[in-house]
Amino acid sequence: MNIILMGLPGAGKGTQAERIAEIFDVPHISTGDMFRAAVNDKTEMGVEAKKYMDQGLLVPDHVVNGIVKERLGKDDCNKGFLLDGFPRTAAQAETLNGILDELGRHIDHVINIEVDRSELLGRLTGRRICRGCGTSFHVLFHAPSQEGVCDKCGGELYQRDDDNEETVATRLDVNIEQSAPILSFYEEKGLLRNIDGQQEISKVFDDIAKLLRGQA
Ligand SMILES: [Zn+2]
Repeated sequence: MNIILMGLPGAGKGTQAERIAEIFDVPHISTGDMFRAAVNDKTEMGVEAKKYMDQGLLVPDHVVNGIVKERLGKDDCNKGFLLDGFPRTAAQAETLNGILDELGRHIDHVINIEVDRSELLGRLTGRRICRGCGTSFHVLFHAPSQEGVCDKCGGELYQRDDDNEETVATRLDVNIEQSAPILSFYEEKGLLRNIDGQQEISKVFDDIAKLLRGQA
């Protein structure tokens, strides 16, 4: 089963990816891990990528695609894979199709965990950190018993600059803009499966599992 997992920051993609990989026994391939492994293992493309990275340059597309091809061609992908963080652009989605053709594979499902922008803003701006002991809280998921006060040491809670609404909204909007053409690309191919991400984490997983088992 070859799966691409999509979802905006805060949608819970990481948590779901871990569960899918475990329950359906497919390797979870995230872009970052894939790069680190290629560089560490000194694969042909890993060595190539490192040349650019050492100079502080952006790794060009043909090298990125080469790394993806190397990874997807590994034996552990024979039973399937879960791609997370790739493709990032419609062009990469096209390229991925070509790579999979060469490998004699195809994508079965593109799972998109859908959460409203306003809900994501709430999730992503809710973190509060104690000035005293550094413990982190979340106004929605792990609220302190008294607002603004640390449960552990009574210290003052604050919001980090990169958690503020403006920063988070900008990051979110960039992601929405980037993912839109990828989602349309797979929608046109009939592969896009939208999952309601505004439910309990376990319910979100149940929906994904049903879909992957062909029960949805
Ligand atoms: Zn504290």
